[in-house]
Amino acid sequence: MTYLYELTDYLESIAPLQLQESYDNAGLIVGDKNLKITGVTVCLDSTEAVIDEAIHAGNNVVIAHHPIIFAGLRQLTGKNYIERTVIKAIKNNIAIYAIHTNLDNILSQGVNEQIAERLGLRDQRILLPKTSESTRIGAGLVGYLSNQMELEEFLLHIKKQMNASCVKYTDKTKDTVLKIGLCGGSGSFLLEQAIQEECDVFISSDFKYHQFFDANNQLVIVDIGHFETEQFTIDLLVEIINKKFSNFAAHYTKVYTNPVNYI
Ligand SMILES: [Zn+2]
Repeated sequence: MTYLYELTDYLESIAPLQLQESYDNAGLIVGDKNLKITGVTVCLDSTEAVIDEAIHAGNNVVIAHHPIIFAGLRQLTGKNYIERTVIKAIKNNIAIYAIHTNLDNILSQGVNEQIAERLGLRDQRILLPKTSESTRIGAGLVGYLSNQMELEEFLLHIKKQMNASCVKYTDKTKDTVLKIGLCGGSGSFLLEQAIQEECDVFISSDFKYHQFFDANNQLVIVDIGHFETEQFTIDLLVEIINKKFSNFAAHYTKVYTNPVNYI
């Protein structure tokens, strides 16, 4: 029998909670740390549908990338999806744990390494280290393709490898690309750093219209969507958990939680 705190202690040995950003709310959000784990459902977003899935699968722990509660809750009346999710989890004795910007901010076994591996980048390092000593802790990632690629070919490579329905990109100011910057989730805050690093391309999501102009002909911004950049974080967490624990299993959610559709 494994207690929930044994699982969360292990996850925090890889991605310590103190590495999360100040605005974040990673950690145990709902549930008792002494809960005996029957099974784990892993997701990006712990929506009501995911809690239902966990209940039906007999999994009493949900590990999510995004915290279901970000700011404080003032009522629990079920008027929105956050309140309904929390109420459902409590009623059914389901624990919800989030591993968010603390997982973004580590190089090894982090969100961005997962993307870099899928794109085949070598010589990976942090794009914006937290401090000058901690080169393996911080935001974003820089790496190199093993060979130069035509920009167009690389855009199609990203689309395929990241299972993206839509790839938005700025003017083709480069014919070939080699040095790649990236950040899973909303990474536009790292654009300036990627330009300073002389990346040929910066891959992330949630760029606003005017921010696309900030590429300033110095690199190519590639925006593939927030869910799309982070979706393989689920695989990463399932693998991390199942490698370590053998008396329960972690399962991928089968619920597609991306709130954005394309036509
Ligand atoms: Zn995210």
